[in-house]
Amino acid sequence: MENNATFTTHPNGGLKNTPRRQTEEEEDKEDRISAINKRKKIQFQASHTLLIAFFFWIFSLHALGIYFFTKGFLLTRLVLDSHSKCASSPIEFEQQGLRNSSSGCWHPKTFDKAVIIIIDALRYDFTVPVGSEHHHYHNALKVLYETAVEQPHNAFLLPFIADPPTATLQRLKGLTTGTLPTFVEFGSNFAGTAIEEDNLLRQLRAAGKNLVHLGDDTWHSLFPGYFDDNLTHAYDSFNVWDLHTVDNGVTEHIIPLLHHEEVEKWDVIIGHYLGVDHAGHRYGPDHPAMANKLHEMDVVLREIIALLDEQTLLVVMGDHGMDAKGDHGGESDDEIEAALWMYSKKSAFGRLNNDSITPPNNAKERPTAQIDLVPTLSLLLGLPIPYNNLGSPIAEAFVGTDQPDWKNLMTVNAISSGQISDYQRSYSLARGLDDGVFRSSNILREKAFRYWFNAVASNVLEKEFKVVFEMFTAYQKDTLRLYRSLWARFDVTSMVEGIAILFVAACVLAFYARSAALHGVEYIPVYLLQTGKYSVAGAILAGTVKIVDPSLVFMDSVLLGLGLGGVLGFGVAVTMTRAALKYDDLPIPSSVWGWLSVIFTLLQAIGFASNSYTIWEDEILLCFLSTFGVVALVSSFRQNSASVRSAGIAQSVLFLVLARISSLSRLCREEQMPHCKSTYYASSNSSTSAPWQLLIPLFLAITLPMIIKLYYVQTLSYKGPAVLWIGFTLRLGLLATAAFWILDAADDNDWFGDRKSIIRAFKMILARLTLGLAFVAGTTYYLWAKPCVSIEVSSRRNGADAPHDPPKKRITVVGYMNMHGSRYFLLVCNWIIALILVQKPMGAGAIGALVVQILALLEIADANNISQSAIGPVILGALGSFHFFKTGHQATLASIQWESAFIPLQTIIYPWSPMLVILNSFGAQILTTVAVPLLATWKQPPKSRGLLGSIAKAMATFILYHAIINLATTVWAAWLRRHLMLYRIFSPRFMTGATVLLLLDLIGILVAIGGVRSNFISVAEVFGW
Ligand SMILES: [Zn+2]
Ligand SMILES: [Zn+2]
Repeated sequence: MENNATFTTHPNGGLKNTPRRQTEEEEDKEDRISAINKRKKIQFQASHTLLIAFFFWIFSLHALGIYFFTKGFLLTRLVLDSHSKCASSPIEFEQQGLRNSSSGCWHPKTFDKAVIIIIDALRYDFTVPVGSEHHHYHNALKVLYETAVEQPHNAFLLPFIADPPTATLQRLKGLTTGTLPTFVEFGSNFAGTAIEEDNLLRQLRAAGKNLVHLGDDTWHSLFPGYFDDNLTHAYDSFNVWDLHTVDNGVTEHIIPLLHHEEVEKWDVIIGHYLGVDHAGHRYGPDHPAMANKLHEMDVVLREIIALLDEQTLLVVMGDHGMDAKGDHGGESDDEIEAALWMYSKKSAFGRLNNDSITPPNNAKERPTAQIDLVPTLSLLLGLPIPYNNLGSPIAEAFVGTDQPDWKNLMTVNAISSGQISDYQRSYSLARGLDDGVFRSSNILREKAFRYWFNAVASNVLEKEFKVVFEMFTAYQKDTLRLYRSLWARFDVTSMVEGIAILFVAACVLAFYARSAALHGVEYIPVYLLQTGKYSVAGAILAGTVKIVDPSLVFMDSVLLGLGLGGVLGFGVAVTMTRAALKYDDLPIPSSVWGWLSVIFTLLQAIGFASNSYTIWEDEILLCFLSTFGVVALVSSFRQNSASVRSAGIAQSVLFLVLARISSLSRLCREEQMPHCKSTYYASSNSSTSAPWQLLIPLFLAITLPMIIKLYYVQTLSYKGPAVLWIGFTLRLGLLATAAFWILDAADDNDWFGDRKSIIRAFKMILARLTLGLAFVAGTTYYLWAKPCVSIEVSSRRNGADAPHDPPKKRITVVGYMNMHGSRYFLLVCNWIIALILVQKPMGAGAIGALVVQILALLEIADANNISQSAIGPVILGALGSFHFFKTGHQATLASIQWESAFIPLQTIIYPWSPMLVILNSFGAQILTTVAVPLLATWKQPPKSRGLLGSIAKAMATFILYHAIINLATTVWAAWLRRHLMLYRIFSPRFMTGATVLLLLDLIGILVAIGGVRSNFISVAEVFGW
């Protein structure tokens, strides 16, 4: 490898191969050269801009495809606007005169007032006692179980099962409307939208009740204007770092309201505590902070009980549970199993049989659906049941105190069955469903109501009432089952349209990236011109005559026309250039490496059809990467030059070893249990790091700059800006990161006692400075940096022939051969700093290993002469996916590390908070995307022809890899849409793939392709174009 280039001098300091002599001819020549340079610069800038436009078009195709697929895939439920009315009961009573809200609308009321406490994420097993071997979350909140056992007529405690997704917003909708969440509403969690359909709070308002809300402000986005302005106090809900502000606020305001002089001011108080949820997110359930929080809840609840009067119902519940790390969102047992407790000073409750006086030991016994709360509270408070409700009254609340009152149970279930049957009728009408859909439930309903009429008319025995009660229950259960499957309906046409767009986008990329005769950038203008023309034509055609899919609304039709027209235009452009160039090769690999990259990609794509493959994706990626390492090792042995051989061997071994070491960091998903052991946090029940893990960032700060330096030194490129940026800035950034995580641990574990607030402020400043160093200072420095070369001047005489000539100056450019690569890597360094900061210490280690693996990959590619092969971008893509898992993530909603939003911030601030979560989640994929141009530039001579084209091809191949993964997960999610594991496994994997693809498209365009522009300009300033 020739690392230096030698030039003779030129008076102006520019480098040319001419001796110093000033004549007019020379000046002329110089003008010509500068004119040529100017023209070449403009040419470069134009083709660079067009390249960005081309990749932006690819991004738009991806976005369109994902949009159409998602629209058909995410489920929708038609929201009916009707509201239940007090005066029109769904069943005809013999004993009339009830129908007013003061005595109870559809059923005599039991309570006038209610205090409803939500302890966010109160998992059922937090509330039941455990003997020996208990965790921090056990035996801390005792009051619920205690009262249910000691005063069974005053209290009961039940497992309270949430319908996924287990996010607070979706849960609050279910808890107030009594209906099922459908997937399409899920995305609105961050935004929050008012509930339009009939619900408990609306019915309370219609009955003239005054509502007070305290705590989590999600309630205000769902129910704007429902609450008493003077008594209500809402708090920001997203600051999961803060365990106390919301809870203290609720307690501080709720206690005075329960005192004698204040009780007249309100009818229903809703208090929403967030501390337990936040303790879970921040520390995981098995942590002293959780025990403290649960104990605090215990004390508050006892205080509330003491102040309660006889006419007020007290309800305490969790809206969902939390998994072993304290997060939630998915549908694992731990996430859906919450607790429900009702309490009254007067005797009001009972049990279905004497065996069930004590609450169930675990959530598998007597599980109660969360939607059952709506009919239960409605009937207890004498309200009509909200129109869209599908829940059933909870038996314990209506069974009476002594012997089971089967007649009352029958009656309340007759009422809720009547309401459900009304809803069923109007839903079928609105949706145009035929009777066949509900055949089984219709039979059950008719039978139950027939028996009910008989039972009410003739005075039958108590046990007959029990039979009718069970018939109603069976009917309600069956109806719920039918709606669940009905709302799992997909719009297959739209899904197919989405898949088709994603498929042709992948074909375009494959053609552009791998078709051998195509030289990168020169035909981009033709492509773009035709694509643009046909896109517009397609949009106009589709918008006016809707040729493709007449069922689409106008905007969607235009979008579809835009996408398909563009692809057609690309095809036309390819045919045009093909005629002019006489090439006709297809993107088929021509070497072992090429085939290897195809096989890796296709095997992965096929694998996503299986749930166990998807669950064990991290292990399978390790297997692919190891295979690549071994093949690279074998291939390196076969190289002729000894130095190349040893370099190839060493780097292949390093690559393999680092893959193995990284694989030790893992965060298991529930489905991997019990064959997997999480190592990402201190224990499998926590979300904080172990003290030894704090050493990882420190270790990185010391070693990573040194290792990077070694790679620079081989090409003699550790010069100029590299010394400052790698030797000093990178190290400084990594040291700051290490300090941040130590301070964070100090804050978590109270190492410094009462100086907490100072530590918190200091670590936040440190995080902000580090991010500023990486992005603001880093980008500026990168844009203006000179190439990493040094220029050495030496004099020599021209030997014996011309002893009297003046000595010629000889200029050696040291580091010439890696000029693009060494300079571009400075940009990668900026991202290393930022990405390591936002990872937990273990994840920082994974990112550090990834950086060295990227460098090893570049050296392997150089040693084996495969810089142009598809294998480089594919392995880079696989590295990104692999380290996604090694930075403590999984393709599940629960594994999102929301708390990373609070590394440099105290509260949620848009758009920074979501951006930080993205940096944390997809850090590994982002880093590999930023590194793509290195594949084409590392150790490539700066003026090699078609360099920009090679960069574009590497990027296109890299995106192609991710596009095929995304296409595969999309197709499999569609194909397996009836699979039992759709929501648990395939749907989250599809969402991960789609997010990654769109994100990497943008990073690729804005950072990688955008970033090489300054490289070319900087190099050309020294060496000309
Ligand atoms: Zn919640
Ligand atoms: Zn939460």
